[in-house]
Amino acid sequence: MLPQTSEPIAIVAKQTGDVRIHSFISSFTYGNIANATHIIETKNKLVLVDAQFLVPYARAFRDYADSLGKPIDRLYVSHRHPDHWFGLGVGFSDVTAYALTETMSFIKEHGEDSLSDHWKLGNLVPGRVVVPEQVVSPGDETIDGVRYVFDLVTDTETDFHLTIKLPDLGVYFAQDLVYSGTHLYLSKDMGHWIAVLQEMLLEDYDLFLPGHGLPADKNEVARNIEYLLAARQAIGDGLTGDAFKSFLLQRYPERKCPGIFDIYLPRLFGNASDY
Ligand SMILES: [Zn+2]
Repeated sequence: MLPQTSEPIAIVAKQTGDVRIHSFISSFTYGNIANATHIIETKNKLVLVDAQFLVPYARAFRDYADSLGKPIDRLYVSHRHPDHWFGLGVGFSDVTAYALTETMSFIKEHGEDSLSDHWKLGNLVPGRVVVPEQVVSPGDETIDGVRYVFDLVTDTETDFHLTIKLPDLGVYFAQDLVYSGTHLYLSKDMGHWIAVLQEMLLEDYDLFLPGHGLPADKNEVARNIEYLLAARQAIGDGLTGDAFKSFLLQRYPERKCPGIFDIYLPRLFGNASDY
């Protein structure tokens, strides 16, 4: 059975001077995982972060971007997990996409496998893979008057993750380093992830844009650390599979999108591929 879809949510998370930060979040219901994609709207153009997962949300995100009436200058893909780049093949094939070298190589080499791995989703996944063609490297760049800082973060929720910071605005695009109000997608290496989040809490940013869920503050970043510590402890105590899932569901009844467990548990405790 195909997962049902429902209305996405669009939010202006910050407005200051000529700059508006928009978040666009797919459904929290029916097994969806509240994929969050974002737009930095400046005086003359738009910069997008991630491309959504399922076809209807990728289209809706594109429609939302077009409704702002400015050209899309580029789109940054945060990492290789398909819920962040599948949408490139639907709504953004005409847009210049940037990614880390590692992300680009992964999509080039495994993108088609990843698509066929999701055959159960039928026509909710795009019919083709679009590989980002531009490399983003760690460093600074000014785009339409706004300073961006790009970083490569390794061994957290995924192996290679891009972060984008706007230091003059206090805005931090953390994508899947932060799950806002939803259950986290856990990886085997939680220790370094915790350290990276701890570092975030000491930096001078106050708006954190996640890869899943609503725009977040430092309290939510801290809650992610607490979740990771609890999950790591549970694994240390010998919990696996369904017992591990029940533990987290009971401990965090307020968090949404339990569908994420079905995606990562076979990878965390088994040898399922992480495409
Ligand atoms: Zn994700």
